[in-house]
Amino acid sequence: MAERAAYAALTEHSRGRRHPESAPSGRSEFQRDRDRIIHSTAFRRLEYKTQVFVNHEGDLFRTRLTHSLEVAQIGRSIARSLNLDEDLVEAIALAHDLGHTPFGHTGQDVLNACMHEFGGFEHNLQSLRVVDHLEERYAEFDGLNLTFETREGILKHCSLPNAKLLGDVGARFLQKLQPSLEAQVANLADEIAYNNHDVDDGLRSGLIEIEQLSQVTVFARHLQEVQRRYVQLDGRRAIHETVRRMINTLITDLVAQSGQNIARANPRNIDEIRAAAPLIGFSDTVRAEQRELKQFLRTQLYQHYRVNRMSNKARRIIKALFEAFMDDPKLLPPQYQDKAKQDQARTIADYIAGMTDRYAIKEYRHLFSVEEL
Ligand code: MG
Repeated sequence: MAERAAYAALTEHSRGRRHPESAPSGRSEFQRDRDRIIHSTAFRRLEYKTQVFVNHEGDLFRTRLTHSLEVAQIGRSIARSLNLDEDLVEAIALAHDLGHTPFGHTGQDVLNACMHEFGGFEHNLQSLRVVDHLEERYAEFDGLNLTFETREGILKHCSLPNAKLLGDVGARFLQKLQPSLEAQVANLADEIAYNNHDVDDGLRSGLIEIEQLSQVTVFARHLQEVQRRYVQLDGRRAIHETVRRMINTLITDLVAQSGQNIARANPRNIDEIRAAAPLIGFSDTVRAEQRELKQFLRTQLYQHYRVNRMSNKARRIIKALFEAFMDDPKLLPPQYQDKAKQDQARTIADYIAGMTDRYAIKEYRHLFSVEEL
């Protein structure tokens, strides 16, 4: 591996863990973070949580687990090209969605509405809560006791009132500072991953058609290139050849533009990265193309009537679960009942947020179906 840049997140300058631990042997601090994330319960739950399509709609659609793996893959490629710490990018990527509710963004919005009087619910903050408090695996601490740098990367955004409550990782939102370049890379790798896999899943599901997508500049350009080169090619292979070119273009552009930004700012260390403007970014042309693609996905896929039907069911399920548990916390499993005595609403939000799509559906049936006991 190439030498890491002086402005990368270097383990020797890490701000450390909340509970001090001796240094790992045979792996770096950030590798240890990555390993702890992979062994966590919340990570395994990602397999049955939705990205756009609910888990039972088909076996080949992305789930939060495969999404997180794609983010890690893209993030590592970028980090390697920019001489950043790949392990840190990977750790952030694998943890970034741990706090997601079942049923994707609808789940998060409904739970946030339910929690309105109790401090709200935000999936980003919940990811941090999972790794700081909710995982129960270690003898000496709650959570995974990750390094500051991984936690900083997980907390992509945060309201100012919440930032005040969070101490060290919240401080940058109050001081208007940036996170490490590794965190910035993970964030944009997330965007590259979902825009492209949503195109792929959208086509696979039949909710969007190639003809519609051909009106989107970036898709049309790459599809034409594929069709010129492989005249006979169609179907899945043509789609994949197009999508892989779109991903490659984005990564190449991001690396080139970010490299220029870094050279211009000439940071000597991570503190100068934190004080500078964000340095990881696309060129203006590519950013404009991405905006067009996102706009297309928003109107044609995320608001497709078939997606809306599922979102509507998801909304009812989450709301009904929350209200039933608030009405009678004795319906909660025993380990949550104890916690609910301290903070009922937050405990219920933690319980619901931890559910997979199918678990939430099952729990709804258990509570409300007279046929099922
Ligand atoms: Mg994501």
